[in-house]
Amino acid sequence: MTLALGCIADDYTGASDLANTLTRCGLRTVQTIGVPDDALDLPDVDAVVVSLKSRSIEASEAVTKSHAADRWLRGHGAAHVLFKICSTFDSTDAGNIGPVMDALRDESGDAIVLVTPAFPGTGRTVFQGNLFVGSVPLNESPLKDHPLNPMHDSNLVRVLARQSRAKIGLIDLATVARGPDAIRSRLSELALSGNGAAIADAVFDPDLEIIGQVAIANRLSVGASGMGLGLARAIVASNGNKVNASASDAKPVGGPVVCLAGSCSQATLAQIAEAEKSMPVLRLDPEKIVTGNTEVERALDWARAHIADKPVLIASSSTPEQVSALQKKHGRDKAGHAIEQAMAAICERLVDAGVRRMVIAGGETSGAVVDRLGIPGFLVGAEIAPGVPALRAVGWPRGNAVMALKSGNFGGPDFFNDAIRLMP
Ligand code: ADP
Repeated sequence: MTLALGCIADDYTGASDLANTLTRCGLRTVQTIGVPDDALDLPDVDAVVVSLKSRSIEASEAVTKSHAADRWLRGHGAAHVLFKICSTFDSTDAGNIGPVMDALRDESGDAIVLVTPAFPGTGRTVFQGNLFVGSVPLNESPLKDHPLNPMHDSNLVRVLARQSRAKIGLIDLATVARGPDAIRSRLSELALSGNGAAIADAVFDPDLEIIGQVAIANRLSVGASGMGLGLARAIVASNGNKVNASASDAKPVGGPVVCLAGSCSQATLAQIAEAEKSMPVLRLDPEKIVTGNTEVERALDWARAHIADKPVLIASSSTPEQVSALQKKHGRDKAGHAIEQAMAAICERLVDAGVRRMVIAGGETSGAVVDRLGIPGFLVGAEIAPGVPALRAVGWPRGNAVMALKSGNFGGPDFFNDAIRLMP
């Protein structure tokens, strides 16, 4: 297999978002969970997105994991690797964007790397090196209060310079607007004057398409799903994609469907209320999950009684007031972890019982379930809602399965039924 594009994503849901974008642009894409085993038997694809959980770990560990992913991707023919970061540039002065970029650049042999987190489709734009979230600069957006990576500076040339060994330049919008040749010549000037990376302005998708045309000829780029869009369009325009078919062409999986909701977002709460009109719903007792061990068995008994007839939904989700009361009593991490693990245990036991179609609501909840099931990767299929594709398990010793993994506020009011319809 020779990949047209390799990607290394620093978290799971960001990886799904990118894989979904690449698929929508016409690249047949697999998202792997961690660096794949050499034995993993992948279908014929154009792009692989290796999902890591490296956004907020020690920089040296993030570098080691990213190197391993890079080696795997290059070993499978990827001439270009995109290091996928968050479109809000989530990081601290200690990294991890800068250190990982530096290490991958050393390995790639590129003199200078194009960097942009712009993703206009979700309101992330970059102008004069400053990142905007909707209409406000990054440092005035809710990201200024992020619990792990508070962003206090919207100027990414400065932000990246604090994290990187390299001198950082700027490719401004006027240069981008003049086209690929103007970007190439500005990049050469910047490289000659000792810059190792350049933040590229981008306000509209066509800006990213121009940047993508330049980036694809290099070995490495850094960006969010918008950079993925630019690279994918460049690949498709040059007829580099081979297969251009999606997982939705695959044979139906069939059998019972189980939905699990651990997200407490407003959207998920409304989606659970809507699901109650059409399917049996079990609401778990979060207090009993944290303090006892009977809720998992109760959920399994309940599910076994219903799954032969209809899709079912099992939810731990509660209102913000109830969530904060539980967190005050037991601690945020302990409560969250216990509920995630209970969801993973329920899912695992239902898989043992033969379930192969699963809809999971909640980013962390999805991560816990996927890790527990040991699914090595997914082929991206039909789009259920913006940013949420149906996913086919690949290389899973237990055979075929189809899943939807939805984070937080994604999906329309009838998300669970929308998902089931696209997961035959
Ligand atoms: P989202 O994508 O909406 O952020 P996540 O699954 O990432 O959803 O995060 C939800 C977190 O809340 C998880 O850690 C989950 O275990 C936890 N959780 C789920 N239900 C409850 C509840 N009733 N009370 C407190 N925490 C909960």
